[in-house]
Amino acid sequence: MTLAPYACDPARSRGRRHHEPPAPTRSEYQRDRDRIVHSTAFRRLVYKTQVFLNHEGDLFRTRLTHSLEVAQLGRSVARSLRLNEDLVEAISLAHDLGHTPFGHAGQDALNECLAGHGGFEHNLQSLRVVDQLEERYPAFNGLNLCFETREGILKHCSAANARQLEADEPDGVGQRFLRREQPSLEAQLCNLADEIAYNAHDIDDGVRSGLITLEQLQEVPLFDRYRLAALHEFPQLEQRDQSRRLLYESIRRMLSAMVYDVIDATQAALTQAAPNSVSVVRCLPPLLKFSQSMREESQTLKRFLFVNLYRHPQVLQTSSQAKTIILELFDAYRQAPGQMQAGFTTRADAAANAVDPQASLSRVVADYIAGMTDRFASREHERLTGRRLLC
Ligand code: MG
Repeated sequence: MTLAPYACDPARSRGRRHHEPPAPTRSEYQRDRDRIVHSTAFRRLVYKTQVFLNHEGDLFRTRLTHSLEVAQLGRSVARSLRLNEDLVEAISLAHDLGHTPFGHAGQDALNECLAGHGGFEHNLQSLRVVDQLEERYPAFNGLNLCFETREGILKHCSAANARQLEADEPDGVGQRFLRREQPSLEAQLCNLADEIAYNAHDIDDGVRSGLITLEQLQEVPLFDRYRLAALHEFPQLEQRDQSRRLLYESIRRMLSAMVYDVIDATQAALTQAAPNSVSVVRCLPPLLKFSQSMREESQTLKRFLFVNLYRHPQVLQTSSQAKTIILELFDAYRQAPGQMQAGFTTRADAAANAVDPQASLSRVVADYIAGMTDRFASREHERLTGRRLLC
């Protein structure tokens, strides 16, 4: 299939930071995707919390299955809009590489630990993973991904962090935040595919965990419309022993509706703006979007999940223990950097000679903790404090 003129074309990539000869059989974005799949950080995603801790149940989403779902949804939309599927897949699979153990509770805790030292933000951390922290190549740190993949991974960035990135890499991935420009359509698509994926799978995991019910979900118009449509077509789903099928059928219909809505709304925006290159796309307002009504309905669903699932007392109790683990691990490694694995201990030693030794040491410790799986973080916490939480 021919790419649209507004799609990213690997032949016109802004390239890699370290020059490498092209691969004989793969495009540059396929190569990025393959590097991401083979990375250590990618394999760790299977043991990192999305909403539920890994050991709370075998069927809940983890960061890995979430990332695969984002890639599937993203590729499906990309194909319809003639965007670059390989780039969408690469960005989707990498978008959560920088997540800490224990989901948002872990990120909030690390952000607290690094207050005054630049804070901690998972998007920026995902970029640090692919730019610096993966150690796989003899000639450079990181995975040396293409500009367009890195641009998509960095979906948000504060102005202060963007200035720092720009100082390290002029005209790099920080620049668009200072110029208030958009990333490629492929990157915009991954953002939306992320939202569609977690809206749908958090309903599924939330109901299966028993923390939210199908009855409660009737207050969410976007979900209830498709529940009623499913019941109308298959009245037998009303029976109690069919509730699992009713849940799946409602989610399936809702997912399809969100995907078709994005395709239609974006196609209309593209027809109107008629961008003939990626550079034009970058200077326009976001073109990859929901329709206005779907945007509002998706917000309502997100609010419902926030109040009823992410703020459920059971989830909050786990979050508070997770936070304790991260805060105490951070203190323990700061006091005794030799307790970290070898590469990090070496970096901690080097931090003593940095311009701001405290900030540098804190960053090394944060990089170490952010890379951990839930299980490893719990075990390290037990080893260093003698107390057992969440394992
Ligand atoms: Mg995500």
